[in-house]
Amino acid sequence: MRALVVRGRGATPAVEEVRLPAPGPGELRVRIRAAGICHSDLAMVDGTLAPAYPLVLGHEATGVVTEAGPGARLAVGTPVVLNWAPACRDCWHCRHGEPWLCAANTAASVPRGETAAGEPLQVTLGLGALAEEVVVPERAAVPVPPGLPPAEAALLGCAVLTGAGAVRNTARVAAGESVAVIGLGGVGLAVLTAARRAGAAPILAVDVVEAKRELALAAGATDFLRSDDTLGKEVRARTGGRGVDHAFECVGRAATIRAAWRATRRGGAVTVVGMGGKDDLLSLSALDVFHSARTLRSSVYGSTDPDREVPELAAALAAGDLDLAPLVSGTVSLAEAPEALARLARGEGARWVVTFPD
Ligand SMILES: [Zn+2]
Ligand SMILES: [Zn+2]
Repeated sequence: MRALVVRGRGATPAVEEVRLPAPGPGELRVRIRAAGICHSDLAMVDGTLAPAYPLVLGHEATGVVTEAGPGARLAVGTPVVLNWAPACRDCWHCRHGEPWLCAANTAASVPRGETAAGEPLQVTLGLGALAEEVVVPERAAVPVPPGLPPAEAALLGCAVLTGAGAVRNTARVAAGESVAVIGLGGVGLAVLTAARRAGAAPILAVDVVEAKRELALAAGATDFLRSDDTLGKEVRARTGGRGVDHAFECVGRAATIRAAWRATRRGGAVTVVGMGGKDDLLSLSALDVFHSARTLRSSVYGSTDPDREVPELAAALAAGDLDLAPLVSGTVSLAEAPEALARLARGEGARWVVTFPD
């Protein structure tokens, strides 16, 4: 089968023929219908997440079970959304209601399958979903209703789950609270959508790219602001001079975490959704931390339990209560995926989704 493979840190990904093993005990083979291209894929290519190579990219996808290994319970033909952080249900975090921090999910890549030349192959976050097929543990496949639009269903596995969870579970945004969202990639747009569903107002969308304005308004923002030195002033002008109740940082940089901090009111909360680098240091004065009375926290995988929340989001999508169309910039073939990755790196569009013919 064919997969999008990156050969080493900084190399240009290319489509290759690869081989996966047959599903073992408790594993499934899933034929991929659609797979989104996420910022974390760029972090796999540039080495920020320190995966091993050669590596199949992709971790946000939907597909159909085509083969079940011994003991696997999901039937062939079941539509699923893939979960890149399947909970073991047995570690300390799982037993204490924090499955998103499961101790079993710490590897950026795991070995699975081989290249056409017989070299050992790695797959991203246990999935490697930018591929015609994956072989995954059954707990990494969440069953969903049939008939969902594939490109939108794929996003339930990363961007939408993360954005919805950050708003609902981590920040617990209430109706009428004010929100700012900094960084309008797939996750940032999903945060806007979730903030609108939560009844937040105003919802201020912030990005350096003016071209994101229309996308932001379509996804749920009430205002679009350019990210520059006047941001704090612009935010306060729209929030009674105070700043927002909740700021969401969806970039993963110290500079934008600081911008989110400054855009938040005294006593408000900053939720860091973007994943940054280990050398990018955040500096806040001790006086500011005390006097502002703000909360700074992160949201890993939206603080969600995907086994419960992916089906809820899938049901909302099926019922027409969740409009994800603004998040999908376009669909491309697997052969076009390298160019779509380059577009993502340039900040063009929201989510590019690779779709596969039936
Ligand atoms: Zn992702
Ligand atoms: Zn666990």
